[in-house]
Amino acid sequence: MKLDLIEAESAKATIDETVGPLENELTQKYGVGQRERAVRGVRQVAALWRPEDGDAELFAEFVRTHFAGDQSALDTLFLRFETLLEQLDGHMHEIGRHFRQQLDLDLGPVLPVDELFGGYNASAHVTDDMFANKLAFVVLLNFPLTTLDERLREGRHWTRRQWAETRLAQRFDRRIPAEAIQAITEVYAKVGHYISEYNIWMHHLVNDQGERLFPSGLRLISHWGLRDEIKSDYVDAARGLEKQRMILKVMERVITQTIPSAVIDNPRVDWNPFSNEVTPTTVHDYDEAALPPRSTNAMPEPDTRYAMLLETFHAARKIDPYSPTAPTHIARRFEEDREIPEARVKAMLEQVCTSQLLPEISKLIVERLGRPLEPFDIWYNGFRPRTQFTEPELDEKVRALYPTPESYQKAVPGLLEKLGFSSQRAKYLAEKIVIDPGRGAGHAMGAEMRSEKAHLRTRIESSGMNYQGFNVAAHEIGHNVEQVLSLNDVDYTLLRGVPNTAFTEAFAFLFQSRDLELLGLPAPDDSSRAEKTLGNFWSTYEIAGVSLVDMAVWHWMYDNPDATAAQLKEAVLQIAKDHWNRFYAPIFGERDVIILAVYSHMIESFLYLPDYPIGHLICHQIDNQMRKAGSIGAEFERMATQGRIAPDLWMQTATGSDVGADAMIQSATEALAQVKAAARS
Ligand SMILES: [Zn+2]
Repeated sequence: MKLDLIEAESAKATIDETVGPLENELTQKYGVGQRERAVRGVRQVAALWRPEDGDAELFAEFVRTHFAGDQSALDTLFLRFETLLEQLDGHMHEIGRHFRQQLDLDLGPVLPVDELFGGYNASAHVTDDMFANKLAFVVLLNFPLTTLDERLREGRHWTRRQWAETRLAQRFDRRIPAEAIQAITEVYAKVGHYISEYNIWMHHLVNDQGERLFPSGLRLISHWGLRDEIKSDYVDAARGLEKQRMILKVMERVITQTIPSAVIDNPRVDWNPFSNEVTPTTVHDYDEAALPPRSTNAMPEPDTRYAMLLETFHAARKIDPYSPTAPTHIARRFEEDREIPEARVKAMLEQVCTSQLLPEISKLIVERLGRPLEPFDIWYNGFRPRTQFTEPELDEKVRALYPTPESYQKAVPGLLEKLGFSSQRAKYLAEKIVIDPGRGAGHAMGAEMRSEKAHLRTRIESSGMNYQGFNVAAHEIGHNVEQVLSLNDVDYTLLRGVPNTAFTEAFAFLFQSRDLELLGLPAPDDSSRAEKTLGNFWSTYEIAGVSLVDMAVWHWMYDNPDATAAQLKEAVLQIAKDHWNRFYAPIFGERDVIILAVYSHMIESFLYLPDYPIGHLICHQIDNQMRKAGSIGAEFERMATQGRIAPDLWMQTATGSDVGADAMIQSATEALAQVKAAARS
């Protein structure tokens, strides 16, 4: 049924007129004790009711039928939704797992039809369906919608059942038109494609002497590949520094869009990034037939990078009018996805970036490098644990222990016992984890209902598992144990899971960092651990600055919604410089560096970057608590069975503190003292 705008508005007005009388009617019927619930419920339904859902009479009829007017009716309703939504989610997930099986597991050839099965999302329309059949409105009529502020302020005093009701209602807190979702999906694909094609052919970079510093055929994606090349150039004593400086110049050309269009993913030309001169290449390290046509334009890329970023902004903004409790993309990212207010995230990132430890750590780096810091040293990776065994030695040990997936499956209870789970609990957990032979490096797929098991996908070659595979499997099994506990041992399945992805990653890293103990070998010594902690701290400093830039850029776009790509570029450059000058220039010396704006995530990932530093901080908090407790097993169970409550509340119960930077700074302080003492001795 299509109504024109005026009809739709008058239909809405008629619904609004029935709200007051309905509230009174429900209060009269069920008593004043139910008035507050009735008022809130009726308004929550009215806010999302559309003309096609029915006229005022149907609306009133719906409210009278489905309002649970006493505690016992409400309990029954709650239980019904909890039980049946677990079945819905669980089976949808199960279908997805089966449909992806041929793609995910090492089961022989993948047919084109397997791609179609794998791309199908059985639950894509579930929320729409639930509004259409009005089950969503039953939830909205009976359970409270909350703001982040309420969840944080009052949530500490809520019962577990109140938290479960909150999560139930949140599932239906908005109705976003399909066109808006479609717009985001399209922009996401378009910008993702732009970034995925943004490669630099490294052998075609030439310096002022016409020399090629990088090997032939090397094609690196911006910024990940370029950044990782900078990291690996530290071990190249002869020309590493020269390579790093050249990559920095390339990155600057990308950020300022002075990069010639013709050099993007194009080995047919050579490019001197310093002079910006482009010439036809004399080296053919590529397959001419396989290479599509490329731009021959030696003029700078016309601010496409920033036009793409603007497109993501305009797409994200389409959701704003349908999201009254979080009316900007920034608010949705922080208040809904992360559930940590932006101001707190900003404060904890700035705490890292202004830490008193940084001058001392940088002094250590300068000593090790034997030269002053340069801007790309934000990616310095020379803090490394001492290794007791070579990789081939470790490969051999692992291969002997785990020749097949079955042998690994049998070993799981023993591995868990090594981490401090009781033998009974280790057996219980292991029975709920299935080891599958995966195609990829490793993946943990949890279940969504208690009758299903979690799956660990790991790759075991015919010659047996290698150390790299064992290390990844340790990470994934950390995910699996969290998945099993937070589904099967949590009191309400509506609270299954963890507050956000950083928490499950923290559990996974916890297992992974103990891989030597899992192999029955001695744990890394204190000085190795200290090196690793300093390395983590330095990379958190780097990604914290990048995240603060990402956040400031999104604010600028909201403040200047009609900006052009050229104006956005100028703003990004200024924001990157301002942050560099504030947080990095005091450590690095040089001013006005723009490198913090190089991350491709900033262009394509809709304000995702802050998840990384927050993840590092959370990881440290959990790891410190485990060390304090002395053993993982019981602490892991205590933490993971809290389920998906607010992050700060979760962390309070887990460690006694809110989510924050104190734990990492504390560990880094101790690590710095340790490393300095080791250097003296
Ligand atoms: Zn992971």
